[in-house]
Amino acid sequence: MSRTVLITGGNRGIGLAVARAFSADGDKVAVTHRTGEPPEGLFAVRCDVTDRDSAERAVSEVEAQYGPVEVLVANAGITRDGLAPAMRDDDFEDVLQTNLVGAFRMARLVARSMISARRGRIVFMSSVMGFLGSPGQTNYAASKAGLLGLTRSLAWELGSRGITVNMVTPGLIETDMIRDVTDKRRDQLLSQTPLRRTGTPEEVAEVVRFLASDGASYVTGAAVPVGGGLAMGQ
Ligand code: NDP
Repeated sequence: MSRTVLITGGNRGIGLAVARAFSADGDKVAVTHRTGEPPEGLFAVRCDVTDRDSAERAVSEVEAQYGPVEVLVANAGITRDGLAPAMRDDDFEDVLQTNLVGAFRMARLVARSMISARRGRIVFMSSVMGFLGSPGQTNYAASKAGLLGLTRSLAWELGSRGITVNMVTPGLIETDMIRDVTDKRRDQLLSQTPLRRTGTPEEVAEVVRFLASDGASYVTGAAVPVGGGLAMGQ
């Protein structure tokens, strides 16, 4: 059955791969784009998840086009790395606002219609760094760890309405986001990765697709790793 799927930050990287995966399944896919161009062949709405009006407008536009959102993939995220003693408040807050508050905002906006429909799927894009911690990423790791509490609390709140809430925790995935990771750090992370390689956006997309599928009907409140074994057991 074709569902209405909304993916934030779906114009590139992992979000775009997720969008293409749902699209290939025949779902009605909407992506948000912020600064970049909308991706070819997908319905796109402009949205900055840190801006409440922009987020509300985006969800309304998607609903007008395809009907209520049945699957949300809250994927939009940023990094603003720097060692904590020198980190500016803005850099800490911007990351929290985007990765954590933005994800909450989008989930809240779509939850109302999911509750009425008594069905729905929410998937948050966390990171192994939320479990491992990461030097220079206090802001990022805090935001991604915060998604765990958000996931589990929402899973409790929405479970009785037939809505599942999960998150995936990718490891090192080849996108623009890791372009500036130094070779030294990359080697260090890969040495702790049993599969000894970076992942692809498509490999993350497959897991998101599963979490949103009928096959995952009894999975909620889970943090599902897609990291080649990096941080396993955390
Ligand atoms: P990219 O930098 O390639 O893409 C990030 C996306 O998020 C872009 O579409 C970007 O839009 C969007 N975005 C950023 N800020 C906002 C905002 N305020 N409002 C709306 N959209 C926004 O990164 P990835 O594809 O790698 O990352 C996707 C998600 O996966 C992120 O949450 C990231 O933290 C997470 N992740 C990535 C890993 C990796 O190794 N790549 C590992 C673990 C987690 P724009 O084009 O306008 O910048």
